[in-house]
Amino acid sequence: MSYGGERAPAGLDTSRPSVARMYDYYLGGKDNFQVDRDAVDRVEKAMPGTRQVAHQNRAFLRRAVRYMARQGVRQFIDIGSGLPTAGNTHGIAQEVDPSARVAYVDNDPVVLNHGRALLAADSRTTVATADMHRPDEVLEHPEVTRLIDFGRPVGVPMIAMVHFLTLEEQPYVMGRLHDALGPGSHFTATHATTDGLPADMVAQTEAVYATTPTPIHFRPRAEIARFFDGFELAPPGLVMLNEWRPRDAATSSAVPGRQEIRVRTGTPSP
Ligand code: SAH
Repeated sequence: MSYGGERAPAGLDTSRPSVARMYDYYLGGKDNFQVDRDAVDRVEKAMPGTRQVAHQNRAFLRRAVRYMARQGVRQFIDIGSGLPTAGNTHGIAQEVDPSARVAYVDNDPVVLNHGRALLAADSRTTVATADMHRPDEVLEHPEVTRLIDFGRPVGVPMIAMVHFLTLEEQPYVMGRLHDALGPGSHFTATHATTDGLPADMVAQTEAVYATTPTPIHFRPRAEIARFFDGFELAPPGLVMLNEWRPRDAATSSAVPGRQEIRVRTGTPSP
């Protein structure tokens, strides 16, 4: 599906930028509109190097999924999966074990359309439309429960997502996810941080995202750490994006550039 001609399929809101399509543009994809590209250009102007960080984030996702699969996780719920790109969660997990199952969850209709097309022939993957702000909608979605056995370890990549939650909703959303995950499960997240950044840079970037349906909240380390309350941290814990097991994967390119995103992976404590 290409929108090169800028004709949007029915049901797509192109009056505002969408973070899914902006992220696609950061990564060099074609599933975006002028409104999305303009927003990315404004972010790049406010915070040069953001595109590189998106690529670094993607490389982290691959390392994190590979790590979880090597820890024995064979089923994943990728929340806020984004548009299909190189090195998707199921491809990485199935390199470790071809029987690995992945439920992709996103609230953007473009992701659902692409996911269906990409995954049509794969019985071990599915794509569901649900809203992270309503975790029960994610956990109880029929496509998720069809594929995922909550009695066994589950891996939850929620990559470049939790900075879209407010601190008010954080305890509820994280609590529901924590409680749904049994022993051996893993939760992994990246989060935009204010650490080391001038306040005006952060404010200008947040202002661009405020024009999307998905405002972003850059936060200092101590606030980000609260997302992992109740989880036991896997080493090296909450660190800058490229510092998390940088040598774990052949695919993890060490791209130079600022590292604004902090990462933690954890296993729920019993
Ligand atoms: N996790 C991927 C993509 C991140 S882009 C990666 O790190 O590579 C953020 C994605 O989150 C977009 O696809 C967007 O549509 C999705 N998203 C934003 N808000 C959401 C919500 N409330 N519920 C589910 N998905 C959401």
